[in-house]
Amino acid sequence: MKLEDIMSRLAEVARSVPIHYRDGILGSMTTPPHPLAKAAFDMFQGLNVNDEELYRPLRELEEEAIKELGSYLGGSRCTGYITSGGSESNLAALYLAREHGFNNVYYTAAAHHSITKAAYLLRMRPVEVKMKEYRMDPASLRSLCKANGPGVVVVTVGTTSVGTIDPVEEVSDVAAECDSIVHVDAALGGLVAPFVYPNRKLGFQNGPVMSATLDPHKLGLAPLPAGGLIVRDEHWFKPLDFKAEYYPAGHQVGLFGTRSGGPVAATWAIVKYMGRDGYAAQAHELMERTRYLLNEVKGLGLETPVDPEVPVVCIEHAGDDYLMRSLAKEGVYVYKCGLVPGIRVVVMPHVTKALLDKFVSLLREVLSQ
Ligand code: PLP
Repeated sequence: MKLEDIMSRLAEVARSVPIHYRDGILGSMTTPPHPLAKAAFDMFQGLNVNDEELYRPLRELEEEAIKELGSYLGGSRCTGYITSGGSESNLAALYLAREHGFNNVYYTAAAHHSITKAAYLLRMRPVEVKMKEYRMDPASLRSLCKANGPGVVVVTVGTTSVGTIDPVEEVSDVAAECDSIVHVDAALGGLVAPFVYPNRKLGFQNGPVMSATLDPHKLGLAPLPAGGLIVRDEHWFKPLDFKAEYYPAGHQVGLFGTRSGGPVAATWAIVKYMGRDGYAAQAHELMERTRYLLNEVKGLGLETPVDPEVPVVCIEHAGDDYLMRSLAKEGVYVYKCGLVPGIRVVVMPHVTKALLDKFVSLLREVLSQ
């Protein structure tokens, strides 16, 4: 094809999809990356972090970024790697659990679908634990654990559908009782919950927690697809260090092969720039906007299944498909909650009060039709 035809086709596609988040992307857990992260991404996107001989300094950036993120979840000796998003992190975490001898996967219906997908791919045994108010019920876990034996218990810090946090401490106590380990899926909530609930032990402060998912591409302001797998220590991480004969270093880390330096450098840069204080300020601001939206929604006579603990608002409605499509026609894009009938707004950094007001007034209109 000629260059001008290629450019015109690309422009046509760009016009046909919503490319500006601020215009009305309200359901997705993605947000525009910070310009600093974009610049770092561009500098290193063509280099392979997994070639450790050539790019060892990039792997060092990766380890520093993972350590910093791990420290937010109470870890002090964490290692891990920058993945292609939360799904890969969850897959890698369950793989580690399996390699260390844990074959049962305890999870709830509110866990992200990447958990059951990973259990399926790894031929592990999924065991569904009951919930109480959309959070894992430790009593149900105890009896299932007694009946089925040890496993990896997956808790979620910020459920995708309703924004709840599983009781990580109580679940960890039960896990310890039945010789199990815990994986914390904090893909979204990992950059909110530790700052908004500083007295709760949501991660590695609990002995059985061996790994966590925390996605820089969600609230970290890093570009897609930067995900984070954080592992308690080198020993637990070992099965993810694979032999790779033709590489000069003779090995590579992670589930996949060639890994772009872009997400790694971008994550390091933005994590160092924002730091604990920057992410804490963002977390408080997002929760403030979340409460604002909750109020507005209740003002329309609508209900949420539960008060969310992270910036995810599920608005119950039997006609969720109709609502989602009617709003999309007006340029406001939400998702369905999934777990319960309803539509879901994720209050990401680009979701300002003005955007929430636009959403609420459109929702009012659609509901009155
Ligand atoms: N875990 C949780 C709790 C999530 O909310 C998500 C995505 O929304 C994921 C995992 C999967 O992340 P990704 O879409 O980056 O693979």
